[in-house]
Amino acid sequence: MTLASAVSEGMTVNTIKTGVRTKYIVVTGGVLSGIGKGTATASIGRLLRGDGVGDVANRIVVVKCDGYLNVDPGTMNPIEHGEVFVLNDGTEVDMDFGHYERFIGVEGGGDWNVTSGKLFSRIIEKERRGDYLGKTIQIVPHAINEILAWWDEVRSRTNPDFMLIEIGGTVGDIENSWFIEAARRLKRKHPNDTLFVHLTYIPMLHNTGELKTKPAQRDIALLRELGIMPDVVIARSKYALNDRLKRKISDAVDLDPDRIISGIDVNNIYEIPLMFEKQGLVDVINEILGTEVHPDLDKWRELVEIMKNPKHKITIALCGKYTQLHDSYASVIEALHHAGAHLNTEIDIKWIETTDIENGLISVADALNGCDGVIVPGGFGSRGAEGKIEVINYAREQKIPLLGLCFGMQLAVVEYARNVCGLKGANSTEIDPETRYPVIDILPEQKNIDRKGGTMRLGAYTAVLKPNTLVRHLYGKDRVDERHRHRYEVNPEYHKILTENGLVISGTSPDGRLVEFIELPTDVHPYFVATQAHPEFRSRFESPAPLFYGLVKSILKIRREIE
Ligand code: GLN
Repeated sequence: MTLASAVSEGMTVNTIKTGVRTKYIVVTGGVLSGIGKGTATASIGRLLRGDGVGDVANRIVVVKCDGYLNVDPGTMNPIEHGEVFVLNDGTEVDMDFGHYERFIGVEGGGDWNVTSGKLFSRIIEKERRGDYLGKTIQIVPHAINEILAWWDEVRSRTNPDFMLIEIGGTVGDIENSWFIEAARRLKRKHPNDTLFVHLTYIPMLHNTGELKTKPAQRDIALLRELGIMPDVVIARSKYALNDRLKRKISDAVDLDPDRIISGIDVNNIYEIPLMFEKQGLVDVINEILGTEVHPDLDKWRELVEIMKNPKHKITIALCGKYTQLHDSYASVIEALHHAGAHLNTEIDIKWIETTDIENGLISVADALNGCDGVIVPGGFGSRGAEGKIEVINYAREQKIPLLGLCFGMQLAVVEYARNVCGLKGANSTEIDPETRYPVIDILPEQKNIDRKGGTMRLGAYTAVLKPNTLVRHLYGKDRVDERHRHRYEVNPEYHKILTENGLVISGTSPDGRLVEFIELPTDVHPYFVATQAHPEFRSRFESPAPLFYGLVKSILKIRREIE
C-alpha cells in the first residue's frame, strides 16, 4: 500500500460500523446549473453527521456523479471548470468535494467521484476483456447496472450510515440521464432507505419583484416523468417563500408544504446548514427514513455569528492568473475564511492579476497598496510568473506577511536565489528550460512521463518538520500529511546555497530529498512561509489549516490587535 493510500484508508474508513443499514440521499437539481447543489449536499451531510464527533459521529459518504466524458477534472481549464480538488489518495476530483470535506469533515476516496469518463472506460475495458461475450452492450441496462454496482462498491467498502449521492448537472441533460435512471432503480432496490432531495429555482421578476414558481413546477414535473418523486424540495431563491408560494408548489407537485424548504441566497455559505435545520429538514429526513439524527451545531453557530460581526478586518492580496474566476481558488478562499472565523476576523480579498504587474500595467507597490498580507497560490506555466516573483520580492523586503502555496513556494525560492543568493537568472525549468541556475526542476520520477492525466505527484505525503521553526510551531507536531499536485521541486543541488544564505527549510520529505516547507526566521521577517503542498485542501470550517491561521494571526499581531 502506498503512503498516500494508507493515509486515505486511515482517514476515510475510521470506524467500520458493522451491520449498519445505509440510508441513501440522492440530490438532484433543476432549472439552472450553479444553484448550489454542492453546498446544499455538504450542508445536509453536516446535519446528518449528528451530535457525535470522530468515531461516534454518523459516518457520511458523498458520491458525486459528473456527466462529462473526462475521466477526471485534472486536465480541464480551471477558468472553465473551477478548481481541481485533490484527495488524500491522489485522485483529482470535482471541486464540490471541497465543500463536502470542509462542511462535513470527511476525507473522500477517489471512487466517491463517478464520472461518465470513468464509467465508460470501465465498461469498455470489460468489453475488451470479454466479460460481456455474446451481448450487445447498451446504456440500459449495462451502463445503469455499472453505476449501481459502483455505488454499491463504495457502500460496501465504507459501510456508512448515510450515503449522499449528488447528481451533477440539471435534470433533463442527456449527460446525466443515466445517473438519474440509476437513482430511480436505487429506490426500487431500497424503497425504505432512499430519499430524494431536489433543488429547484424560483426566479424573481425584476419589474414586479414577484417570485415565480412556474419553472419549478415544470422542473419537478420533468423529474417525475423520469420516475423520481422528490421527498424534499429545496427552493432556491432570493427571498424566502411565503406559505402561499409553498402551497402553490405543494399543490402542483403533491408534496406536503413542510417538505418544501426555502433555500435563500446567503452571503456566507456556512449559514446554509443552520437555515435548513431551522426549517425542520432533519425532522423530515428522520420521519421519512426512520432515523434519529440530532445535529449538534453549537460551535458551528458560534463561528457563523462571529463572521456576521467580526472584531477585526484585514485585507489579503491573492496573486494569481485565473483571478477572473474566483472558483479557481475556492479552497484558498475558504481556508482564509476558516482562519478568519477562528480569529474573529473578516478577510477582505484583493484580487491581483500578476500578468498586469509583469506587463507594467500596475506597479507592485500600487497593486499591494492597503494589503496586510499576501498569498501566492498554485499555478502552472510562465504567464504571470515574473509578476508573482515581483510580489514575493516586495513582500519579503517590505516585511509583509506572505504565504506561498506550491507554485508560490517554488517562485519564492526563485526570488530568494536571484536576489539573496546572487544567482542571477535563477528560475524554474518549467518557466525557463535553459536557465543557468535551475533552482526548481522537474522531479526525477516525472522526467519520462508524457501522458497528462493523473500523472503529477498527487495526494497526501508526509513531511518531517524541523524543530524550532515557525511551521513546526504552527502545526504543533513533527510530522504532517498534506496534499500535493505538482511536477517540479526544489532542486536538491541548491539546498545548501539557499540555507547558507538564510532560507530555512522547515520541512522535507522523510528522506530529506524533497523540500516541503520553507520560511524565514521570525527575527528577519514576521511571516514568510511557503509550502510545496496545498494545505488549503485540508482546511475545515471547524478546524482551519495551521498555515492560514498563522498568516492571519501574524497580521493581527503586527497591527497590535492581539498579543
Ligand atoms: N507548476 C508547478 C509544478 O507543477 C506548481 C504546481 C502547482 O502550483 N499546483 O510543480
